Amino acid sequence: MKIKVLGSYGSEGQGQRPSALLVDDRVLVDAGTVGGACSVAEQVEVEYALISHAHFDHIAGLCFLTDTLAMLAPERRVTACGLGPVLDSLRTHVFNDIIWPNFANIPNPKNPVLAFRPLAEEGEARVGELWVTPIQVEHTIPTSGFIVHDGETGFVFSGDTGPTRKLWQAAREMRGLKAVIVETSFPNRMDGLARASGHLTPEMLKRELDKAPPDVPVWVYHVKPQLYQETAEELAKIDSARIHILEQGKTYTL
Ligand SMILES: [Zn+2]
Ligand SMILES: [Zn+2]
Repeated sequence: MKIKVLGSYGSEGQGQRPSALLVDDRVLVDAGTVGGACSVAEQVEVEYALISHAHFDHIAGLCFLTDTLAMLAPERRVTACGLGPVLDSLRTHVFNDIIWPNFANIPNPKNPVLAFRPLAEEGEARVGELWVTPIQVEHTIPTSGFIVHDGETGFVFSGDTGPTRKLWQAAREMRGLKAVIVETSFPNRMDGLARASGHLTPEMLKRELDKAPPDVPVWVYHVKPQLYQETAEELAKIDSARIHILEQGKTYTL
């Protein structure tokens, strides 16, 4: 399995893109950025977008991807997959012909460039060549993490979350787990903000890892670019052998 890091941050900075991973060239895991990291030829190969939740830093790239498809490859389609309430938010608040065109009707409602496919919570679903299980996590709006597997190896993706439990339980039961991809957003001094907004600090991550499967590499994403240095230094102090901040632009192989 190949994971390309299109964007690894919890917001936008100069050259720092919001969170998105591309698995085996076909499946996005969140879509904070797409066109900022992929050529048009790469964009039209994307078939699915697993969306953890509807916050803008996880969907902005999906808006522009549908625009690219409508103009340059209207015969292609990207299917947004996620929990029902997440997809409802996208339909109601984003692709509503106000904030952005309703690309689920473009070029026509029968063969649109955007489709929505709800996934059952804790149910395993076939998404392209992958197996995907959404697990609810703790954020300010309906949000899931994902367990992603290709039949041999896989990873856990936390989505945006504060301290959580079910995801780690599922991760411990998973076979072929090669990496835990988990958010950390704010430095330790912003503990109050992290708790209020459903995010982790390095100190909170440390406690989460006590619940996670041991001996699995931990890849951090979603650090706020405005607070990157401070957060990265605190992460390095926890366990620099095990914890690695995902490098934007890099492709990881499991
Ligand atoms: Zn976010
Ligand atoms: Zn969020």
